[in-house]
Amino acid sequence: MQTKHYFRCSRWVAAAAALLLAGCHSEPPLPPPQPITMLPEPAAVTRTNLPPTPPPPAWKSLVFPTPQTRLIEGDLRVFTPANPAHPDSGLFGTVRTGAKGQSRFHEGIDIAPLQRDRRGEPTDEVHAIAPGVVGYANAIAGNSNYGKYVVVLHNDPVGAVYTLYAHLASITARPGQAVQSGTPLGVMGHTSSSAIPRERAHVHFEIGLLNNERFAYWSRAQKLKPDHGNFHGQNLTGVDPLAFLRWQHAHPEDSFGAFLATQPAAFELVVTPAHAVDFFRRYPALWEGAGWRAGAPVVVSCAANGLPLKGRLANEAERNALRRAKYALTSINAAALGRNGSHLVAPARQGWVLTSTGERWRDTLLY
Ligand SMILES: [Zn+2]
Repeated sequence: MQTKHYFRCSRWVAAAAALLLAGCHSEPPLPPPQPITMLPEPAAVTRTNLPPTPPPPAWKSLVFPTPQTRLIEGDLRVFTPANPAHPDSGLFGTVRTGAKGQSRFHEGIDIAPLQRDRRGEPTDEVHAIAPGVVGYANAIAGNSNYGKYVVVLHNDPVGAVYTLYAHLASITARPGQAVQSGTPLGVMGHTSSSAIPRERAHVHFEIGLLNNERFAYWSRAQKLKPDHGNFHGQNLTGVDPLAFLRWQHAHPEDSFGAFLATQPAAFELVVTPAHAVDFFRRYPALWEGAGWRAGAPVVVSCAANGLPLKGRLANEAERNALRRAKYALTSINAAALGRNGSHLVAPARQGWVLTSTGERWRDTLLY
């Protein structure tokens, strides 16, 4: 993260120098583009120029994201269900919501407020759970279904881990700000591009990994609006926050990577990427065995929501399974897919296939 600061600073210094140099011309030069990547763009990705080992994990001083301290006691009343008919729909996983029982993957937990003012608005402070740097703050309520949200990046030996705090009423944190455990980020609310009634006010909290540092380029190529850069929800893939909080409570010295290693894979995607998969460049500890070479099929072991847990080169049987197909899905684990299944993969006559959402996920991961 210090590299990022240095990178940003050096770009702004260069931009300021360019402005000074251009001062003698009548037309002012265009402002420099906003940096959109978290880390400097790699020149070439090989196993030999991977980043140095990051500092120790940030989780020793972990606090809960709101004054609610009963999150891991197993009482569903501390969460706000998306659908009152399904009390567990405020938790992580595939849940059924809406009158027709539509299915979606809920990538975080919805923490209910402890305090409200006279008008019924929540007043709970939302704060960073661990030391890190604010990566993004979206202050426009209507341009995301997260509403006003803040993303914090934390150093972990596995690589950058994000935490996300959504539906805030107001934001006090600013991008680039260093935070500690408990640093205020804003106040709980019910902001979203889709209306959330005041009674259902909550903070949606996520923790996980960033799919692709090139996501911002993909979303701009697709002309996706609004542009949240690399901090768009589609580029943020969470783990079950309660599982991580419980794990961290029992293993306070361990890294996020150690927790990830306990997570079961739900399916394996066999595919031949056009270039090295950016995810494993940023999370090299999740890659096993020999390095990637151009044209080599790879296997990505994924959690039900598509979080890559491990990557490696495909073996001969897997290369055969792929043959000339665009992709193959192997090692389907029904238990890890969960009782409501995955929104990314589905059974078909010829075996398991990616859904349209799954194809989009694959495209963004490999872009
Ligand atoms: Zn939520």
